[in-house]
Amino acid sequence: MSDQAGARSQRTQISGAQRVVVKVGSSSLTNGEGLDATRLEQLVEALVVARQRGQDVVLVSSGAVAAGMPALRMRFRPRDLASQQAAASVGQGLLIERYGALFARHGFAVGQVLLTVDDVTRQANYRNALRTFTRLLELGAVPIVNENDTVATHEIRFGDNDRLAALVAHLVGADALILLSDVDALYTAHPSDPSALRIDEVEDVDDLEVDTSRRGASVGTGGMTTKLEAARIAAAGGIPVVLAGAHDLAAALNGEPIGTLFLPTGKKRSRRLMWLAYASQAKGDLVLDAGAVRAVLERKASLLPAGIIAVHGDFHAGEPVRLTDEHGAVIARGIVNYDAEDLPHVIGRSTHELVAERGPEFDREVVHRDALVIKLRKRR
Ligand code: GLU
Repeated sequence: MSDQAGARSQRTQISGAQRVVVKVGSSSLTNGEGLDATRLEQLVEALVVARQRGQDVVLVSSGAVAAGMPALRMRFRPRDLASQQAAASVGQGLLIERYGALFARHGFAVGQVLLTVDDVTRQANYRNALRTFTRLLELGAVPIVNENDTVATHEIRFGDNDRLAALVAHLVGADALILLSDVDALYTAHPSDPSALRIDEVEDVDDLEVDTSRRGASVGTGGMTTKLEAARIAAAGGIPVVLAGAHDLAAALNGEPIGTLFLPTGKKRSRRLMWLAYASQAKGDLVLDAGAVRAVLERKASLLPAGIIAVHGDFHAGEPVRLTDEHGAVIARGIVNYDAEDLPHVIGRSTHELVAERGPEFDREVVHRDALVIKLRKRR
């Protein structure tokens, strides 16, 4: 297949996606005076076309702080967190009201889903969130996601709804993720730099050489760095990503060659493994000797007590932990089969010896290979 034909077939994956997650940031929804009615309308129009084609659509939308500011007579974005949260609290209602009215014109209901990082890191919450999404989509509604700014302020501080969008894409088993931005594509340097070149397609984010150090617009908080991280997370789980200007959403959904397409780098993995790799919070570290590092990385083996030289943290069997080498570099994440307090008695010892001495319940891996994901990033 020629390069061009290859690119076309990847774009078809976007237009043919059964389930799409679209992420839009504050700067694409607002003007100087708060929410921009025309921009919102254009966004919804494009999403409605996808819904009418039979695609499931999940929208991850910021804009709550910006929407709340005029209602609270705030002329400038407040600097303190409490006022930002108050603005988000007022604005979230207004935002959903607007989306609700726009989608209702076309007969679609919207469902507000406010999430915190905890919701995608704790397994029980993750399952609850998944149940809600699944049912909303079955019922034909459009879930509209934002961070729950009252109790979590990650996006306010780090502009990280991009990452949330990638995690939601995994959660709902999306076939495509579209990240809308106020620039129309990824460039090799800040787009205002005359030497900046537009990038049409990215095979692997880890191989990219772009300068994303300069921040974007003043309203948005994410910038390109978090978008690339989001693209990396989604692509690693087999989900193609399009980064495009907000006005290009309709074209992006049609599979037209606009913006930057990030090709999937990994295969679709189970939700549980994606959760383990990107969403979960590790409760501790297991430090591996060189032999165990090789066994895990090269032979994809389970981790046995014999290969562990130290244990850090406080965790219970069934919780996520990091596996590191002797220098502290994280090589994998896994679900541990022992409580932290039991490990000091068994590490460094052969399973055979442990079973002979302590009984058959010691015939278990510390981390089974099926509950383990390799985390090593490619080195340049
Ligand atoms: N989640 C917030 C919002 O929707 C934060 C975005 C921001 O910091 O502007 O507005």
